[in-house]
Amino acid sequence: MNDQIPTITLPSGKILPALGLGTWMMGETATAASDEIATVRAALDIGMTVVDTAEIYADGGSESIVGKAIKGRRDEAFVVSKVAPWNASQAGTIAACEASLKRLGIECIDLYLLHWRGEYPLQETVAAFDTLKRQGKIGAWGVSNFDVADMEELWTVENGDQCQVNQILYNLGRRGVEFDLLPWCQARGVSIMAYSPIEQGRLVKHPELVAVAKANQATPAQIALAFLLERENVMPIPKTKSISRLQENLSSIDIDLSDEDLQRLDAAFPPPERKVQLQML
Ligand code: NDP
Repeated sequence: MNDQIPTITLPSGKILPALGLGTWMMGETATAASDEIATVRAALDIGMTVVDTAEIYADGGSESIVGKAIKGRRDEAFVVSKVAPWNASQAGTIAACEASLKRLGIECIDLYLLHWRGEYPLQETVAAFDTLKRQGKIGAWGVSNFDVADMEELWTVENGDQCQVNQILYNLGRRGVEFDLLPWCQARGVSIMAYSPIEQGRLVKHPELVAVAKANQATPAQIALAFLLERENVMPIPKTKSISRLQENLSSIDIDLSDEDLQRLDAAFPPPERKVQLQML
């Protein structure tokens, strides 16, 4: 029996479930499509309504899967997509967004992110985000893979402080962000979307995680997600194509890590003692 999914609050005041669904690697093959669509629909059924995609995933294939999954259920989903840095000029961002809208089959992307920094000045991309927002083609915008220096620069750009989220690599094995980036964002109310929260599946074999999971009658993936769910304004977005793993991942909300569990995790996955450059996958 699942508890209610905890929530995060964006700077805009928008409240979202603190556990979303990733879709990288979906839409790669026609044979997997029906199962992938079914999984995204199942996520909506169980309240994991934030669905993360990007124009570059499977060359738009992931957006098409999401579009098919939310057809007829638009209001139930909170769709996040991303513009690739090489498209992030002022005109390019608008064109990329329009192409994503088409693949998604919707009128408005709820949250639109700059996937990572490229050669275009941030003010160009932010100006495009402002235009798209005025036109009702996006509901809000944010960034991804931005370290503290990037966020500080963003804050100097006109309307840069309207950024709602920073989507970053954050999991038990990648805790460097806890030193400065996480507190920086939390101090300004910028929400964190934690990508690769189970390190693309690799974390589940870690012996200490296996041991803590056993002690909690849980799975290692659930402990990895529960660790992130404990953090203020952090939303992990695990990807799975399997409906049973979707339910397994959702059940991480029922886990209450004890002080002893947290100490064991800290010993196995030490928090940072100094600045660590933000990593990317
Ligand atoms: P995740 O950490 O979410 O791991 C996904 C992998 O783990 C898949 O192979 C999945 O396999 C497997 N898995 C899922 N649940 C379980 C479970 N309970 N037990 C064991 N294995 C499991 O990695 P991702 O890199 O996919 O990150 C999540 C999402 O974040 C992406 O899908 C994407 O939307 C986003 N992302 C954003 C990036 C950015 O630059 N902004 C970069 C990378 C990701 P299976 O599907 O077979 O269940």
